[in-house]
Amino acid sequence: MSETPAEDAPQTPAAFNGSTTPARQTADGVAAIAGMLSQLPQTVTQALAMVLQQVPVQTRQHLCAQCLVARIGWEALHGQALKAAIAAAGKEFGLADGDPRASQLDPAPHLPENLRPGGPQGLPPLTAAVTTVGGTEVCSEHIPNRPGSQKLLIAQGALSPTTMAQLR
Ligand SMILES: [Zn+2]
Repeated sequence: MSETPAEDAPQTPAAFNGSTTPARQTADGVAAIAGMLSQLPQTVTQALAMVLQQVPVQTRQHLCAQCLVARIGWEALHGQALKAAIAAAGKEFGLADGDPRASQLDPAPHLPENLRPGGPQGLPPLTAAVTTVGGTEVCSEHIPNRPGSQKLLIAQGALSPTTMAQLR
């Protein structure tokens, strides 16, 4: 028997990985995986790398709850106008009727003037939440009891396409 007893093997500190896997065992595992990869044809490893690059990284961005409530209420009232505007945006872009990609286009220019973003009855923006207050995620505009009414200069969430359209 030439095997080293497990007690003599260097240990990975428990605090590091939550278990006491002997460092050699971990190293052997890594070496085994590396060995398997090196035995694969290069075309396979290249394909594997391409697949891994396409795995989407999920960054879950929540919307402001109050903005969302305002949008739901607006869509309940003006849903038909919004549907028509989305269809018109799709048509302008050369999409066929009912193409789901139309909903990714900006419908704002195709809404009746009084429903365009910025107006008193305009499409409310969906702003990304920047913080949580009392369990509710809110944007900087909707933080309860925030002092003053001016907009923050930089701490805004990502600009929505409709917000961008307003800036043009
Ligand atoms: Zn908000």
